[in-house]
Amino acid sequence: MFSLYDTRYREQVTISPARSGQLRMYTCGPTVYRFAHVGNLRSYLLSDLIRRNAEWHGLAVTVCQNITDVGHLADDSEIDPAGEDKVLAQARAEGKTALEIARFYEDAFRADCNAMNIRPPEYSPRASDSIGLMIDLIGKLIDGGHAYVTDGGSVYFDPRTFAGYGEISGNRLADLKPGHRFEGGVDPAKRFHADWALWKGAPARRELTWETPWGTGFPGWHTECSAMSLHYLGDVIDIHTGGIDLRFPHHEDERAQSDSVAGHEVVRHWVHGEHVLFEGRKMAKSAGNVVLLTDLAERGLDPLALRLSYLEHRYRQQLNLSWQTLTAADRTLRRWRAQVADWANHPSRPMCADYTARITGAFDDDLDTPAALRVLRELEKDDTIPAGSKFETFVAMDQVTGLDLARDIGRTPPPAKLPDQAAGLLAERADARARKDWAESDRLRDALAGLGVTVTDTAEGQVWAPAAAKGSAGATNRTAGG
Ligand code: AMP
Ligand code: ZN
Repeated sequence: MFSLYDTRYREQVTISPARSGQLRMYTCGPTVYRFAHVGNLRSYLLSDLIRRNAEWHGLAVTVCQNITDVGHLADDSEIDPAGEDKVLAQARAEGKTALEIARFYEDAFRADCNAMNIRPPEYSPRASDSIGLMIDLIGKLIDGGHAYVTDGGSVYFDPRTFAGYGEISGNRLADLKPGHRFEGGVDPAKRFHADWALWKGAPARRELTWETPWGTGFPGWHTECSAMSLHYLGDVIDIHTGGIDLRFPHHEDERAQSDSVAGHEVVRHWVHGEHVLFEGRKMAKSAGNVVLLTDLAERGLDPLALRLSYLEHRYRQQLNLSWQTLTAADRTLRRWRAQVADWANHPSRPMCADYTARITGAFDDDLDTPAALRVLRELEKDDTIPAGSKFETFVAMDQVTGLDLARDIGRTPPPAKLPDQAAGLLAERADARARKDWAESDRLRDALAGLGVTVTDTAEGQVWAPAAAKGSAGATNRTAGG
């Protein structure tokens, strides 16, 4: 099987799914109030690489990825339940409704994932469609003594009821200082400073609120991932992924919630991807260096150049992306596609078992994608391997790399090769025509047809094409004279 670095165990572990032949994975999804930047896409790519590799191993993979369209506050404030929701704030800024904003950016997110060859999740529930699941979860946590309702109609989770709090990030409760979550203090209704809101009472807010047994309000951000993952994947989940920043508090809080409801460890392995810098700096609106996938297209770069750039580094390495890197990746993609298209014209030969084993072995070793690419480059240059085998291997490996390397097959006709002797006959025929020796010209045409070459006479002279050219419609070739 394959191994991944488990954040909680702090070591690389072999993944053996809980259910034979199946892998269940939860991936924290986007908050749909703006376009995803290229850094965000790296986090979603991590999940796709795990999926593709697991599928290569024959596992049936089920992925659930949430769409956060409510509950993510601009400053993550818990103090002010009327605090600015990211989606609502953007709706106001663009003069649209919250729903219009959320659906617009959700569509853009799906288009980006599509362009990155990230396979769609089997389930992608929206927070706003999952309020019932969250209310059920919160009810169970209250009944189990893990959560309590405040006078303001909020519901807080009390992490002192969950002994394992902090195992993912190392942020143990005893070491957390009041106000660690946000600057500005602590809700006086909290029993303990590290408690967090599962539900935020907001009787005055008019948009994006729901009725609950404890009053009108909206869910806290961490609540949705527990509710959805338990509902769609069950209470044993093989892998949970996200960007490195989600370890704390998001994943600690989620783990505490889910495990408290289930009564056992729900997520078997937590896997986190490192961040992306762009030209040496954190991508931020204020720094003006937020790069979107659509910016690549504007520069004439293939979106999959981003995927290839990410594969050139391990997911646990911080990566400094630049236009230079992306341009180089774009060149490599084009070269590989042209190679694959060319190899496709050669006789079919079996896949190279040795190269395939090394490439998939690299994927199995905590997604060592740079090593896998090095092996692909080695194979490309290996003169001892027939073109047909290179073709089979590159195309098969595309199932895990997802670079769409077969895209150019058949797009450009293969340059037709003139059979031996045909060049001489064509030259003789040109001479015969110059002499107006039509009988000889016709005899030579038949002789050429016998070699699989069709000749047509045009105003500019005779042109030849492979007879009944396979997959090379329109490929004609000119010879001098005639
Ligand atoms: P956000 O929209 O900030 O909630 O982030 C969505 C996802 O992208 C989360 O999994 C984050 O961990 C991840 N993420 C945010 N910024 C970056 C970055 N610069 N590089 C890689 N992943 C990121
Ligand atoms: Zn999440």
